[in-house]
Amino acid sequence: MDADLIVIGAGFGGLGAALTAADSGAKVLLLEALSYPGGCASTFGKAGYRFDAGATLVSGLGPGQLFDRWARRHGLPIAVRPLDPVVELRAPGLRLALPPSREGLVATLLAAGCEEAPLRRFFAVQAAVADALWPTLDDPGRLPPFDLPGLIFTLKAAPKLLPALRWAGRPLGAVLRATGAEGQAPLRLLLDALCQITVQARAEEAEAPLALSALDYLARGAAHVEGGVGALAEALAGAVEARGGALRRASRARGLRRAGGAWLVEARGEVHRAPVVLANLLPQDLAALRGEGPPTGAQARLSSRVEAGWGAVMLYLAVGDHEGLPAHAAHLELVEDPALPFVEGAHVFCSLSGRGEVGRAPEGQRVITVSTHILAERLRGQPPAAQAALVQGVQDRMRALIAARAPELLAGGLRYDAPGSPRTFQRFTRRAGGLVGGVPRAAGWGHYRDLLPTAAGPGLWLVGDSVFPGQSALAAALGGARTARAALGRGPARRLLRG
Ligand SMILES: Cc1cc2nc3c(=O)[nH]c(=O)nc-3n(C[C@H](O)[C@H](O)[C@H](O)COP(=O)(O)OP(=O)(O)OC[C@H]3O[C@@H](n4cnc5c(N)ncnc54)[C@H](O)[C@@H]3O)c2cc1C
Repeated sequence: MDADLIVIGAGFGGLGAALTAADSGAKVLLLEALSYPGGCASTFGKAGYRFDAGATLVSGLGPGQLFDRWARRHGLPIAVRPLDPVVELRAPGLRLALPPSREGLVATLLAAGCEEAPLRRFFAVQAAVADALWPTLDDPGRLPPFDLPGLIFTLKAAPKLLPALRWAGRPLGAVLRATGAEGQAPLRLLLDALCQITVQARAEEAEAPLALSALDYLARGAAHVEGGVGALAEALAGAVEARGGALRRASRARGLRRAGGAWLVEARGEVHRAPVVLANLLPQDLAALRGEGPPTGAQARLSSRVEAGWGAVMLYLAVGDHEGLPAHAAHLELVEDPALPFVEGAHVFCSLSGRGEVGRAPEGQRVITVSTHILAERLRGQPPAAQAALVQGVQDRMRALIAARAPELLAGGLRYDAPGSPRTFQRFTRRAGGLVGGVPRAAGWGHYRDLLPTAAGPGLWLVGDSVFPGQSALAAALGGARTARAALGRGPARRLLRG
């Protein structure tokens, strides 16, 4: 098929790109290797259950935010349920029910024993930085390369961006010390847990503006999607098709080459042709698809930054429902010991489906997706048996942590227990080494290089969470949308950026 633009991969990065391109009238072909969209943020069926594969809690669903705008514009058939608390964080001797507002969060931390003065100083910095950065993240046109309204918006917002600039490249630990909040244990616990799942780094070393902005994710339209996160991915895929785009499921791109000024993509025995290709892939996977050796130049730098990141170890559980469980969907973040690194089963994120949530589990049962991080380096180069033993040890620790901190989840009986590992993610999302964490956003200026779309060749662009900061479905979708605009010339910087 001939298209204006081919998107390889229907993760949220690819979906955001394909929808934006189709919306602007381009003829779009979206190729997905699996039979369903969403990638790391999909929902899959197994043994009569429907589990979220990785992501469980999506931001950007609040009024006027990106997914909400797309839902309204495209009439997306999704049901969204606000949560309060959004997440409950449990550690030895401490439970923090994290509400969907910044003021509520401050009140929760005060009630947990934080001192008021340093806490308020910390949140004053947090508010200044997050209020400056989030409006930019609500709209792809407000990201470079700007469209005209985006440029005007940014010029107007420039004075507000100054507080963020002061902390750019510096670690969150510096903000804690500058505000005298470093000794506030409940705040520290919250930040360590939050930074691990959002910026993929310890709070001490996380890049401050990114971490301070991420702290607002609870208050920025984080909600439960009925049927699982995959329902949103399916709805976005449907919107691409409704706008004339072609979605080919179970169509893995197996080759990518350039001929006659266009890209030829081989998938399922067909060769598709377009002047622009957006690859929702890791840079090392794109190089392999092009039949090249390891990436070189900027792509090599990017792939080694991704390799310094994380894989995920998972449990997909089904449990008997009972009165001790909340009726609605719930998210629990469990910590073994705040003094230990928040990885490898010492910190898990558990998401419980709602009672009677359509299609998730037979009546009287609920499903739970449980995840933790594992440093990719720990598995790399190990023989398969050693890898399996390490992963199994992490899974045992995850089960023990659930039994200790959230015994109510298991009180109705465990009906199904399927483990997942980086190998599972490699198999299903085809990410090399099961690398799902993107680039860890530790302190440093390097992240600001990613502000412009990432070209990998003439008319060839990367999208997804390895190139756009913020390891989330929202950030991936926003980054994809921004790159599609740039690639199709929907911004003044078009000529400069088109490879
Ligand atoms: C365990 C875990 C928990 C998470 N929790 C959350 C959360 O609660 N909330 C949140 O917002 N984010 C969460 N995230 C992060 C979020 O899921 C990801 O950042 C985001 O979904 C990444 O999207 P992507 O488009 O970059 O990549 P992917 O989701 O990896 O999408 C890539 C797609 O490309 C397809 N593909 C690959 N190769 C080919 C090929 N050759 N041809 C065709 N198709 C191909 C894959 O099948 C896949 O569908 C979590 C991630 C993990 C791993």
